[in-house]
Amino acid sequence: MKIKAIFFDLDDTLFDTYGQLVESAIRDSCQVMIQAGLKANMESCIEKRHSFYLNVPRKNLYQELVTHFGVSNNDPESVAEIGQKAFFEREIEPTISLFSGAKNLLEDLEAKYHLFLVTAGDTNTQKQKVKHLGIEKFFRQIYYVDVRTGQTKKDAFTKALSEYYYKPKECLSVGNRIDHEIAEAKELGMHTCYIKHGQYVYLSPKRPEEIPDFTIDKIRDLMTTCRL
Ligand SMILES: [Mg+2]
Repeated sequence: MKIKAIFFDLDDTLFDTYGQLVESAIRDSCQVMIQAGLKANMESCIEKRHSFYLNVPRKNLYQELVTHFGVSNNDPESVAEIGQKAFFEREIEPTISLFSGAKNLLEDLEAKYHLFLVTAGDTNTQKQKVKHLGIEKFFRQIYYVDVRTGQTKKDAFTKALSEYYYKPKECLSVGNRIDHEIAEAKELGMHTCYIKHGQYVYLSPKRPEEIPDFTIDKIRDLMTTCRL
């Protein structure tokens, strides 16, 4: 494998989004949904969300909560939207930090490869994370993928391949979602490394493209496992 470019995901790949941000985001989204009419209390909302996330991780969890608990004095669709918005559009505390070993890894890799960051979510939220983590300097380019407008990581990969004249075989995509960073990169012929961490570890492959070439538990093992 002759790699020229490495494409990193951000959340739960370079830093512990799940541990550092997700719990409070879940709490806040339940709170606003309850205030908007979701017929649940905080405890039952959090518990049910967790069970949906374990059992139907590909579904929209906020829609599932609304269907399960019901809503009073409001339109169910808008309550689901309020919950989803509260979860994804966040003010990010400047105290967030990279995974152990991630800074050294980026420094080492930057000397040998072209590095890119491809991050999906609310662009403003993702920009705050990048700023607080101080990682902008490591990347040739950062692609902010706005999922609400229908953009995908595959679009960003395709753009990079054509702008930088890389062959897919010269590229490695690293991330914690088999349905995004793995499948969307493999569909283009890129190499893939899956990090088994965070909210989506319960997804199991449904098609061959979701099976990664390499799997690691910690980002600091990337170079050894992928022989970089
Ligand atoms: Mg991620």
